[in-house]
Formats: sequence, C-alpha cells, structure tokens
Amino acid sequence: MTLFKQELRQALSIFYQPKSDHALQLLESLGDIMERYVMPDARRIDAEGVFPIESVKRLSDHGFCKIPFKARYGGFELPYPIYISALEMLGMACASTGLSLAIHCTVCSGIEMFGNEEQKERYLKPLIDGRMLGAFALTEPEAGSDAKAVKTRARLDGDGKNSNYYIIDGRKRFITNGGVADVYFVFAVTDNGYSLFLVDKDSPGLKVGRCMDKMGVRGSPLVELQLDECMVPRENLVGEEGKGYHYAMEMLHTGRIGIAALSVGIAQIAFEKSLEYSKRRQAFGKPIAEFQMIREKLADMHMMISAARYLTLSAAWAKHNGLDDYALKAAEAKLFASETAKMVSDEAIQIHGAYGYVDEFDVNRHWRDARMMSIGEGTSEIMRLIISHRLLRRSDESDS
Ligand SMILES: Cc1cc2nc3c(=O)[nH]c(=O)nc-3n(C[C@H](O)[C@H](O)[C@H](O)COP(=O)(O)OP(=O)(O)OC[C@H]3O[C@@H](n4cnc5c(N)ncnc54)[C@H](O)[C@@H]3O)c2cc1C
Repeated sequence: MTLFKQELRQALSIFYQPKSDHALQLLESLGDIMERYVMPDARRIDAEGVFPIESVKRLSDHGFCKIPFKARYGGFELPYPIYISALEMLGMACASTGLSLAIHCTVCSGIEMFGNEEQKERYLKPLIDGRMLGAFALTEPEAGSDAKAVKTRARLDGDGKNSNYYIIDGRKRFITNGGVADVYFVFAVTDNGYSLFLVDKDSPGLKVGRCMDKMGVRGSPLVELQLDECMVPRENLVGEEGKGYHYAMEMLHTGRIGIAALSVGIAQIAFEKSLEYSKRRQAFGKPIAEFQMIREKLADMHMMISAARYLTLSAAWAKHNGLDDYALKAAEAKLFASETAKMVSDEAIQIHGAYGYVDEFDVNRHWRDARMMSIGEGTSEIMRLIISHRLLRRSDESDS
C-alpha cells in the first residue's frame, strides 16, 4: 500500500519524465511510510495537540527533507515537482506533520538560496538530514500581511564597526515549529532596510512563549517569540544587510507551492472518504451515491482537486525551471488549492451528514486543517493582490 496513487503519478508524469527510477521509488516508499505510520497517528496528534515528533523523525530519516536540495549539502537534488508530490501525500496522511515539514523545508530553501557556504555547512546540512528543525519568524502581533510593518529591530552591538554581534529586539507571533525548532529564521528591520538572521534556539535573550491553541493543524506548534536584547553572532546575518525583504518574499513564493500541495492532499483524502461513504450509506432504500445531487458534489470535488493538483505541479515545474513568472503561478496555485480544500472538505461534511459533523470519520479534522491553508503564508486576498499586480505589470511592460 502507498499514498503514491495513480492520479498523482499521472499528473506528475506530465511535469517530470524520470531519467532513473530513484525519484519514483522514493515517492513510493515515502507514501508507504505515510500510510503505515503517519496517517494512523494523525487523529491522536490532532486530539492531543502534540507535535508529531515520531512522524517527523521517520520521514526525515527516510530523506523527505533532502528531496529538492543540492547533493553537495546532502540532498537528493531531485526536481521540485517530486518534493511537491511528497507534500501532497503528507497532506493526505497528516496535515500537522505536513505543515511543520513544509515550513522547515522553506527555511532550508532560504539558506540554500541566500546563505553563505559556512551557513550551509552549519545549518543546511543538519536541517535537511533531520538533525535540526527550522522555523520562519516573520509575523508579529501588528504585522501579518503587511510584512514591511514589522517592528523587530536588529542593530550591531556597540559602535558597530568591530562588533561581533547583532542585538535583536521585538516580538514574533504565530510561529510554526516554535519551541521545537533548533533555529529560527528571523525577519527584522535594520538601518538600511530589512534583514534576515539565523537565530539559534539557545541564543541569549530569546524566549519562546506558550503554544497557542488552534482549530486545525493542531499538532504543528504555534508560538510567540520574545527577543529581548537577543545576541546573534554577526556571521548569522543571511546574505546582505538590507536585502531581507527580497529574500523573505522569495522564500514565501517557494513556501506557497508547498501549502498548495498540502491543500490538494487534504482535499484528496476528504474526497476519498466521501466517495467511499456515499457507496455505503443508505437513505430512502438505496446508497446515497445513487442520488444525483450527491453525484454532482462528488464530480465537482474531483474536478476541483484535479485542477488544483495540475496548477500546483505547474508552479513547482516553473520554480524548478527558474521561470520568471513562477511567483505568479505559486500565488495562483496557493489561492486555488487552498480554496479548493475548504470547498471539498466542507462538501465532505455535508455528504457524511451528522457523522461528518461529529468526530466519527475525521472529515471535520480535514475541514479544520483546510481552514488554515487560505491564511498561512499569505491570505487568499493577498494572493489575489499578487496575481493582479503581476498581470498588470506584465501588461504594462508589453505595452511599452
Ligand atoms: C496556523 C498558522 C501558522 C502560521 N505560521 C507562521 C510561521 O511559521 N511564520 C510566520 O511568520 N507566520 C506564520 N503565520 C502567520 C500568517 O502568515 C499570517 O497569519 C498571515 O500572513 C496573515 O496575517 P494576519 O493574520 O496578521 O492577518 P492581517 O494581515 O491582519 O489580515 C486580516 C485580514 O485582512 C485582509 N487584508 C490585509 N491586507 C489586505 C489588503 N491589502 N487587501 C485586502 N485584504 C487585506 C487579510 O487577507 C485578512 O483577511 C501562521 C498563521 C497560521 C494561522
């Protein structure tokens, strides 16, 4: 048994023609592990709101976080659509584990794209082989969609010239993997703009607040961070000072394809449960699957999932090939797939009737998990702004 099923295989084959069997075998075995170990634990993880440490470890040991990263840092250097397919399967198996690993891999991609060789040795290698876990700390109590409104400040210690440390002050909120992460990618204001820092969990002045209770993805911890005169070695500045906004946006474009993939996975599992249930549940003397209105729901759910999957894989393919408009595609994929996950999981509850509303068949968990996907890593409203902005700019460029 594996979660690497026919429909995903077919869609992937349009975007990726393997030169060897390695990638497909990897997806096959990851899908097998997810089905055997991760999926059966998802209900407990949700009910208890605990971090799925065993699932994260098992998947990391099996190379989940190595998929898209360069071989010289220990990665498998496989095309991005392979990683995205693995995330779709994880969305089916356990969205909490999926969110934690997706954010972790976004941190890895940030270090690979913008870090120096020393940072890649010290952080990227242990992050992708599972010895470390990463978190991305951008959002603040008064700055979410508007990232430029952050107030967390970083300045060089003392007179600055001979200083070995940055001092960071501020508060971060809604930070996934907070409290379990070994390193935080922190976005802060510096004298010449915005900058990104790698902040170790035991840095002096870093405090992790309580884990926030939430409606979905309940196993993925969400915390507030307090940075009080937090001392961060100068060499932990990522890339150039003042370019952090550009770096953070690039990381978000990449991360959004991951959220889209998780959304497709959540929608797929909610659909599969609905299809099965509709064949078994009897009403008015026949299975509810015999009713035209139920069939219409199933048809629409499946059509939306297929469209979301193709859009997501096409964004992953654009990222892999370095296409200019990959950020536009990433925003489209995130918007469409997350809205699809909400619609499909909602219809799944409807098809299950009262059994969907209570805890019996897990579809209410899928609905609660799906609800996050149109908020985190940029809301649906912000995705629409990005898409329209890029389209208008493209049109202006072709006019001039
Ligand atoms: C489960 C979860 C995990 C998260 N993990 C992380 C993490 O790991 N790291 C991190 O940094 N952040 C994380 N976040 C925060 C997330 O990225 C923000 O919640 C998101 O960017 C939206 O910001 P906000 O919640 O402050 O909403 P706001 O920005 O306050 O927006 C409120 C509403 O106004 C709308 N809005 C805002 N501006 C506009 C506009 N210009 N036009 C139209 N509508 C607008 C929004 O779409 C939204 O509907 C997480 C959030 C959740 C729920």
